[in-house]
Amino acid sequence: MSLANIRIVLVAPTHAGNIGGTARAMKNMALHRLHLVSPAEFSIGEASARAAGADDVLNQVHVHPNLTEALDGCRYVIGTSARPRRLAWPQYDPATAARQLVAEAGQGEAALVFGAERTGLTNTELERCHGLVTIPTDPGFSSLNLACAVQIMAYELFRAESRGGSPAPVDLVAPEAIADSAEVERFYRHLEQVLIEIGFHDPQHPRKLMRRLIRLFSRVRLEVNEVNILRGILTAIQERRTPPNI
Ligand code: SAH
Repeated sequence: MSLANIRIVLVAPTHAGNIGGTARAMKNMALHRLHLVSPAEFSIGEASARAAGADDVLNQVHVHPNLTEALDGCRYVIGTSARPRRLAWPQYDPATAARQLVAEAGQGEAALVFGAERTGLTNTELERCHGLVTIPTDPGFSSLNLACAVQIMAYELFRAESRGGSPAPVDLVAPEAIADSAEVERFYRHLEQVLIEIGFHDPQHPRKLMRRLIRLFSRVRLEVNEVNILRGILTAIQERRTPPNI
């Protein structure tokens, strides 16, 4: 069951009712793993009023202080956005994104990430994602209620699963080989630090450098060995910069 490997992540939800509505939307579609990143207010009672019988999903909710922790162990992450973003991320329609997630979830953990009601996902949060999905709407009124957006995506996941996980449009990488979110993020931070140390990157004048590099690497789906090689190169650069001990 791929759906059992898919977590729904809500970043900084502000309305308990949306958390309950999300739990219900999930349970209807056989999804059970709800993760919250620093919810503004979260009273089980209030959320449970909108959960309408999906209290088991609410009772198992995981709360995290940041998105990195919420994505721990995930090999594949899709973000959602009501509006197209300026920095071109791989963009999918809901059905394609769902097929992709289900196929990936057959091999390991995957996540679908939703933004806060008012602000949506920040670009930094989107950098943690391999792709972006926008639910088609009237362009003049594109922002859905959070729990409604979860419902549509949960339905697409359920459909993708019941179609028997048709082959995903991208090549799948062997389950043990792919680096998870946390490993890749440590590599990004290491890369950033080295680029600062060698004077290539100035955090005061970032010119979107890190964002562009992250986008480049998220297209390839880095494997564990590749992350190790890249970090080895970074460490070698750092060691060269230390003046020799004469
Ligand atoms: N003003 C925000 C809207 C946030 S709505 C923005 O422009 O992004 C809250 C969340 O619901 C979004 O972060 C996204 O996760 C989801 N959502 C709302 N409408 C959506 C749509 N048309 N497609 C995909 N996700 C949507």
